[in-house]
Parts: sequence; C-alpha cells; structure tokens
Amino acid sequence: MIAELEAIVGEKNVLANGKEKARFTHIWKTDVPLEALAVVFPRNTKEVSAIMRMCHENNQAVVIHGGVTNLIGATQTEKNHLVLSLDKMNAIEEIDEQSRTITVQAGTILEQAIDAADEKNLFLPLSFGAKGSAQVGGVISTNAGGLRVFRYGMTRQNVLGLEAVLADGTIVSSLKKIIKDNSGYDLKQLFIGAEGTLGIVTKVIFRLQEKPMSRSSAIVGVESYEKVVALLKFMEKGLAGALTGFELMWQRTYRAMTQAPSTYFAPLPDHYPYYVFIESLGSNQQKDLERLEDLIGEALEQEIVGDGVLAQSERELQSIWKIREDVSVLADQAQYDQHFDISLPIPVIGKEVDLAIEQLEQLDVVECIFPFGHVADGNIHFIVGKKENSPAIVEAINAIIYANLAENNGSVSAEHGIGLDKKAYLSTSRSKAEIELMRLLKKTLDPKGILNPGRIIDT
Ligand SMILES: Cc1cc2nc3c(=O)[nH]c(=O)nc-3n(C[C@H](O)[C@H](O)[C@H](O)COP(=O)(O)OP(=O)(O)OC[C@H]3O[C@@H](n4cnc5c(N)ncnc54)[C@H](O)[C@@H]3O)c2cc1C
Repeated sequence: MIAELEAIVGEKNVLANGKEKARFTHIWKTDVPLEALAVVFPRNTKEVSAIMRMCHENNQAVVIHGGVTNLIGATQTEKNHLVLSLDKMNAIEEIDEQSRTITVQAGTILEQAIDAADEKNLFLPLSFGAKGSAQVGGVISTNAGGLRVFRYGMTRQNVLGLEAVLADGTIVSSLKKIIKDNSGYDLKQLFIGAEGTLGIVTKVIFRLQEKPMSRSSAIVGVESYEKVVALLKFMEKGLAGALTGFELMWQRTYRAMTQAPSTYFAPLPDHYPYYVFIESLGSNQQKDLERLEDLIGEALEQEIVGDGVLAQSERELQSIWKIREDVSVLADQAQYDQHFDISLPIPVIGKEVDLAIEQLEQLDVVECIFPFGHVADGNIHFIVGKKENSPAIVEAINAIIYANLAENNGSVSAEHGIGLDKKAYLSTSRSKAEIELMRLLKKTLDPKGILNPGRIIDT
C-alpha cells in the first residue's frame, strides 16, 4: 500500500516506516510521536481522490489532519490508521473583489486567508486563538465559532462554495460564489461541522465582507452576572450592529491570565467577579472610539459596570485581546487538563457555572477551574486542571459539567465538536432519532466506515 501511495503522490510525500513518528497528533503534544501506518500529503484534489479510491478498495481507515488544533481528541490515531494531511494543499487560488469571495485550498492556514483578504481591503470575519495554526479545512469540518460569531455567524454562515472528496474517492464539487441557491439540497452543509466523517474538504469559497475601517476595544469589570447580561443588551443597543465581540472571563480566570507565571499585564484591578472584553468594528476610528467611550461612561454612571479601560492604541488593543485569546496559559497551570465547550441559554449561565465550580471544588483531584467564553452566543468554556488523570476522574468531572445540559436545552459542544472525547455525551444534546439519522448519513456516504472512524458516533 505504501508503494501505491508513493505512486500517487511521490515518494517524498509519504512518511512511512518510522518516519511518520516525526509528526504528532495535536499542536499541544509535539513531544508525543504519532502512531500510524503512514502519513500522506496529497498536493491536489485528484490525488486525494486517488488515495481514497485505493483506501476504499482496501478497507483502509483514514484519519484526516488539518492544523491539529482541535480540542476534542479528533486527530488521535492508532497504529493501523493512514493519516491524510492537507498541509501541502495550501494555495490561495483567487480573491474576487467584485463578488467579495476568497477561494482557498483546504490546507491554507486561516490567518493567511484572513491576511490575504485584508490586503484587498476585504474581511474574513472568522477569528479565534488558534487562527495561526488551524487550516480552513479543519475550520469548516468543525464549523468553528470564535470571537465574532455574535455578529457574523459560525463558519457555516461564511461558506458559499465547497469541494469535497467522498470515502470512495468521488469528487463532489459545489464551488459557487452565489449567495442564494435553492436548487435542491444544500449539499455543502453535509461537510460543514461533520468532522471529516462524511468527506474530505479540499477547497472552499468564503464570503467576504467590506473591511471595517476601525476597531475599538475595551475591557470592563462587572459586579454580578445579571449586570453582564444587562451590559450585553446595553452595548448591543448602543452600538447598533457594530458590536462584534462580547467575551466574558470569570475572576479566577482573569487572575490566572494576569498573574505570574503568566506574563500578561492586568489592565484592571482583579477584584471584580466578572470581566467583559468588548469589540466594535466600524467605519471611523475616532468617532467609533468616542462612541464606545461614551457608552462605557454611561454604563459606569448607571452602575452596570464597575470600572473600564479603553484601548487607546493598536498595541493596547492587542494586549487586551491576548488575555482573552491565549488560553494555553490556563492549560499550562496543571499537570492534566480537561476542556469544555458547552452551550446554555444566556440567563442561566451565571448560576450553572457557580454550581459547577462549587461541585468541582469538592473533588480533591481538581487543582484549578477556569471558566470563560463567548457569553453573547451562550457558549462557555471551562478548563479544569487536575493532579491526576484516569477514566474515572474524567467521567466524574464530565458528570458535573454536563449535569444540567439536557434540562436547560443546552449542548455538550457549542463549537469545538464531538470527536472522540465527547462521543459518550452526544445523547445529552441530541435525541435518539437525530443520532439515528446521523448514522444513516454516515452509512450512506461512507459504507465501509473508513473516514475518521469512531468520531462523533459509532456505526
Ligand atoms: C488556543 C485555541 C483556541 C481555540 N479557540 C477556538 C474557538 O474560539 N472556537 C472554535 O470553534 N474552536 C477553537 N479552537 C479549536 C480549533 O482550533 C478549531 O476546532 C479548528 O477549527 C480546528 O482546525 P484544524 O485545522 O486545527 O483541524 P484539526 O484539529 O486538524 O481537525 C479537526 C477535525 O476536522 C477534521 N479535518 C481537518 N481537516 C479536514 C479536511 N480538510 N476535511 C475534512 N475533515 C478535516 C479532522 O479529522 C478532525 O476531525 C481553539 C483551539 C486552540 C488550540
């Protein structure tokens, strides 16, 4: 099989016979060598198709690797897996300024696509902490969210066209730049958020926006969760469509991000129970900054916020957002960490997080608990640091975080996906009928179960 792979992509594009150990399964685990049959690096869609045709004929399991930044164990491998990496399919093929679209191959790093659009005064609004490593194929396959979902939607809302290769090598191309297309089923949606279980994304056309001419940001300290919710309403109303980011950090998380060993400087004193990071994008830097300043002044007067700092320069703006984005600082605080990404209705988040913290603190093994997240989207992340790790400990912590999801009509995964780590909890968010329909789709598109086996559902 290695010889066949080499015949398709060339010898230097296959890592096998021990050389595959030079790769890793996650960006945070670069010291853990990969276990796999081989890693293959196709250079174009036709090569992906030929590889999959061969794997289909040979019942060969394939695990797809993008930027390997996922937080759900999705890119873990076993000895008998073939890893298909999109690293070498990374061309930005076209920016169409009239249609306001960018066409990129799946292995393009998200930040490179953002920067290429920016050079043409256009804006790709997808943004999150891992944008410098995540690939657009991975971003699409996880339907990534991030910092601007509130205003621009999830990845799904920013995709116009898509090309994918099915498990048997069939190429499904729907590379259109049109916004409206009701000619039957919207097939590209099958691959967005499917975590590579239904096909391999090879190319995408993103919809772009006109580039905002101003970016204004602030961080504020807030006394209660009720006031956080009031502030969201206040800012949304006051900024009339220009509010693009509203991120919440609990005090314990803010302290960890701004005290040693972290090297980040605290823009506000650390006695507030909640900190909100606000971003507004607009068209006039001076006026927009003044508008945000006025609103924060009013919020102070009305005692919705206790204190606030406005970023007065690009450097200040970057340093405020680093505190929110660089969550690897939190993951480094304990020997083992567990990540959560839940959705809940906005009004219940405050009390549900308090309850979870109270229960987690009763577990001896838990060293630190860091809640933060995209509160305007009802999406909260937790990083739970612990002294030891075992399946029983993982399960005990999961049980606390997921306890009230079903009764609150929440979700076990707001944006990171299910992968391997959350599979056992899918039924807390999805009904039996929904999971059966997922199985039917999987069996139809990948009857031999060779694409990303065991992710999301067992077939
Ligand atoms: C610091 C940090 C911050 C993060 N913040 C956010 C955030 O705010 N919001 C958010 O949603 N996520 C966030 N993530 C999670 C992660 O970055 C996203 O899920 C991202 O979209 C994954 O992209 P990737 O290229 O790294 O995919 P990978 O990790 O390589 O793969 C993810 C899944 O997609 C599949 N896949 C990859 N490429 C393809 C392809 N071309 N075709 C089909 N399947 C494919 C993989 O098999 C796997 O199942 C964060 C991660 C880190 C480390």
